[in-house]
Formats: sequence, structure tokens, C-alpha cells
Amino acid sequence: MMKRIGVLTSGGDGPGMNAAIRAVVRTAASYEIDVLGIRRGYAGLLDEETVHLGPRTVANLIHRGGTLLGTARCEEMKTAAGLRKAADNIGKFGIDGLIVIGGDGTFRGAQELADVSGVRVIGVPGTIDNDLWGTDATIGFDSAVNTAVEAIDRIRDTAEAHERLFFVEVMGRTRGFIALSVGVAGGAEDILVPEVRTDLEALSASIRERMAAGKRASIVVVAEGDDAGRAFDIAEKLGHGLVMDFRVCVLGHIQRGGAPSAQDRLLASKLGAAAVRALVEGRTGVMVGLISAKVVETPFEETWVTDKRLDTELLYLMKVLAR
Ligand code: ATP
Repeated sequence: MMKRIGVLTSGGDGPGMNAAIRAVVRTAASYEIDVLGIRRGYAGLLDEETVHLGPRTVANLIHRGGTLLGTARCEEMKTAAGLRKAADNIGKFGIDGLIVIGGDGTFRGAQELADVSGVRVIGVPGTIDNDLWGTDATIGFDSAVNTAVEAIDRIRDTAEAHERLFFVEVMGRTRGFIALSVGVAGGAEDILVPEVRTDLEALSASIRERMAAGKRASIVVVAEGDDAGRAFDIAEKLGHGLVMDFRVCVLGHIQRGGAPSAQDRLLASKLGAAAVRALVEGRTGVMVGLISAKVVETPFEETWVTDKRLDTELLYLMKVLAR
């Protein structure tokens, strides 16, 4: 019988983490399970920063960005001594199960903690990057994409007015999921992602071709981790060879904040509830995810070992639609 569970958010924050916390707390309440919120991710677990969460504590939260519990990166958690302390604190808190909301680093920590302490741990995918195997989308991804698309719509107006080329940099240090979705949904002329080698000469030629065909403005979406460099570097290398005025816009942390989209609230509600159910039913060491509208559970290690493929078909579609 589960009596008390812990919940924490860790790694990069993303819209929808609060909706997931709410779902965890209220689903737990439906099983008469107590919830202890752990502040600042694993840092709070080590420093014993906790707060009791009841159904009323999480009122008025579903639509808020960020995370009520705060989040942090914690190097100490990666050490044997840190893990030992974390395990001791789990015992001290009287927690029978732990739900961690975060990305692959968070799940690595959770796996280590489960091994050392024996506590049951369930993961909820909360990161804007969408770089986890085991779920079609991570919580926060849809909101980040919507925020960036809204920004691109605005940039398009000024690009058209001044007949300019814009390089818009979006988040994605190692993966191009955000760039790809943003580029297609924002009607970009090109999308540069880390997974596909960038050929600057070909890019320059295609921009010039489109200009010759009568396009007055262009938007190139660049993932921050593209192999050709950051948006500023790429613009610097390319821009002067084009007989077109160009500008660079780095969207940065704007993409992390703001109200979660309806899609992210739904996903967070389903997965927060599924995480509590998984604990109640005795499971551990898995991440809950949604694949083709069904809740699935994937062992932690698979979530970062198995490569989630970028749908490169979308790159071809973008090229067809950008002519
Ligand atoms: P995002 O994808 O948004 O960056 P993340 O969960 O991958 O989220 P990380 O900073 O990689 O973010 O990891 C979060 C925290 O998890 C780390 O600061 C650290 O405390 C813990 N962690 C990561 N890897 C390990 C590990 N191998 N062992 C123990 N703890 C770890």
C-alpha cells in the first residue's frame, strides 16, 4: 500500500510541468495517497527542501508556465556520496514512491537513485526538446513550438515589409525537433537541423533562386546546435554573398515560458495520472509516455539509448511548400 509519494521537476523547465504536478497530486488524492513536493529537483532532495502538496495547493495552476516546485541542475547527484544522501533522505521523508518530471538526465538520476535506494521511481517526460524515445511528444514541446511560430508570424510581417531575409534561431542543442515543426508550421524557406549536414552553398543558391522567382522575403529556421554554427555565424558566412538585406533573431528563452498549450495540458494531465497509477500498480524504473494516443511505459534506459528519429520527410515537404 502506497501511503506517500514524492514529486519533483528537474532539468530544463517547460510549459506544462505545473499541469503534470497538479495531475499527480489530484490523482494521488483519489487513492488517498499523500504527496510531498520536492523543491529544485535533485538539489532539493539533497538539501531537504520539501512542501506538502494537497488538491488545494495545486489550484489555479493548470495554465501556468514554469514549475511551482522550481527546477535545478545538480552535479552532486552524479556522485556516489550524493546518491547515498538522496537515498537516505528518501527514507527520512517516508516516501514509498517518487515521480520525476524532466528529461533524459533526470531519468538517469532516477535510475541511479532507484538502484541505490530501492525506492520505486516513475518518470514523466517534461522537456521542450522532445528528444525522448517512448512518447510521441514530451510535455512542453507543443507550447514551445507554438511560441516560436507566433514569433515567426510577427517576423514575417517585417521581413515582407522590408524585403529581408531572416535567420531565426530556435532551441535545440542536439536535436532539431523544435526547428522542424516550427519551420513547417511557420512556412519557412529553409530549416537547418543538427541531424542533417548543412550545405551553405546550396542554401545560398536556393535563397537566390527563390529571389529570382519573385520571393521578396525569406525565413530560415536554425536549430541552435546546427553543424554550420549558430544563426549569427551562418548569417555572417552567407549573408554578404546574397544581394539581400538580412537580419538575425534568436528566440532563446522566450520558448520556455508562457502558458502551456491545450495539447500540453492534456498530455500532462494524462501522464501525471498515469505515473501515479503505475506506482500504485507496483511498477518502477519506467517513463510513462503517449504513443498514438495510448499510454505506454518505457524502461528508463531505452528513453535515452534508443534514438528518436527526426521525421526528415518533413524537410522535403517544407522544400516543396516553400517554392
Ligand atoms: P532537459 O532535457 O530539459 O535538459 P534533463 O533532465 O535532461 O532535462 P539534465 O540537466 O541533463 O536535464 O539533468 C537533470 C539533473 O539530473 C542533473 O542536473 C543531475 O542532477 C541529474 N542527473 C543527470 N545525469 C545523472 C546521472 N548520470 N546520475 C545521477 N544524476 C544525474
